[in-house]
Amino acid sequence: MSRFAYYADFVLMPAMILVLLVLGSPTLAGVLFGAAAWTLAEYAAHRVLFHRPPLFKAAHDEHHARPCGRTGVSSLHSFAIFVGLALLLPADVLAGFALGYLAYITAHHAVHHWRIGPRHPLYGLKLRHAMHHHGVEANFGVVTTLWDRVFGTYLPRR
Ligand SMILES: [Zn+2]
Ligand SMILES: [Zn+2]
Repeated sequence: MSRFAYYADFVLMPAMILVLLVLGSPTLAGVLFGAAAWTLAEYAAHRVLFHRPPLFKAAHDEHHARPCGRTGVSSLHSFAIFVGLALLLPADVLAGFALGYLAYITAHHAVHHWRIGPRHPLYGLKLRHAMHHHGVEANFGVVTTLWDRVFGTYLPRR
């Protein structure tokens, strides 16, 4: 995808989160709930939508094949989804959900594009995610291993 479609989320999401937190009279509980809900949505989307034909599998297969390319979900699509969610969710829950998404795209970008050595805090994630990329139907979570552990798809790094 284009450079814009890949990177726009890294600008749009912080801007949207800021607007939601400033204008939405947020509660901490609402933000935390939204962030926790993101982790389950991330796991479910990756395991169910991205790994099963035919919905998003082709695009996700491209990411598996070229993890260091600008592959994945376009910022235009993700932003459209967040605009849709704005009609359904309270502002603070949506801000937490978007914070979780921002953590996800940042960590996922980092493991594929940054030099991460054994002493880096993301090293464990990098190894677990690399196992996922090498054809193991496990380690779907990026932000947390919680749901992989709950649903029996967690494989410790090797
Ligand atoms: Zn995958
Ligand atoms: Zn990846």
